[in-house]
Amino acid sequence: ETFDDAKVSDLVRQNIQRSGYTKPTPVQKYSIPILLAGRDLMSCAQTGSGKTAAFLVPMIDKFLSRGVEKLPQLSYLNNRRCQRPVGLILAPTRELAMQIYKESCKFSHATRLTAALLYGGRENYREQISRLQHGCNLLIATPGRLIDVVQQGYLDLSEVRFFVLDEADRMLDMGFEPQIRQIDSLGLRPKDKRTTAMFSATFPSEIQALARDFLRPDYIFIT
Ligand code: AMP
Repeated sequence: ETFDDAKVSDLVRQNIQRSGYTKPTPVQKYSIPILLAGRDLMSCAQTGSGKTAAFLVPMIDKFLSRGVEKLPQLSYLNNRRCQRPVGLILAPTRELAMQIYKESCKFSHATRLTAALLYGGRENYREQISRLQHGCNLLIATPGRLIDVVQQGYLDLSEVRFFVLDEADRMLDMGFEPQIRQIDSLGLRPKDKRTTAMFSATFPSEIQALARDFLRPDYIFIT
């Protein structure tokens, strides 16, 4: 079994190869077709399962097949350059966000898709904003910093067509539930108009409730 079975463009397939991946992991094998078909997904996947590529590959393939030049770019809000990402990935920690960002650069290699990274901590704020301003079709962020940057007017989430909550159980353990829910009320494109994927190692009642609120009712559950 190879990635040739995945119905992705040649460019994405080449980028997968360049990353050194030859055989899809189980979570990749099941998630990629579901997300390419535009269905919402709840996946009980552990760290190390290959879950990052499981959502990045279909996300990037979808945006490439739409045509990068057709994706919304920036708008102006109160004279401020305001970026409009089409893919948004929330992660609990800076380390995880950075890993996802690096993978997103690999899979979007040689394309015109742009990616940006936002995470908390005082020292990096200006630099993160400046990089964001260079383009962010794909945005990887920790919840608190994301809210801050949206409230500052640098980001408009109304064009997010692919939304991922990665390590959702860890985000809740770290107390991010209010922030995650707040993001939904900051102009994020509604769930019936986007594809949403949640990844969580466990599936307790709080995660089930989050899935009910963030995923379409006909979401697919895989373990
Ligand atoms: P993740 O669970 O997404 O954090 O991935 C865990 C590790 O496995 C990372 O170092 C990935 O680069 C690697 N990896 C993911 N998918 C594959 C694959 N299909 N073949 C080989 N390595 C992979």
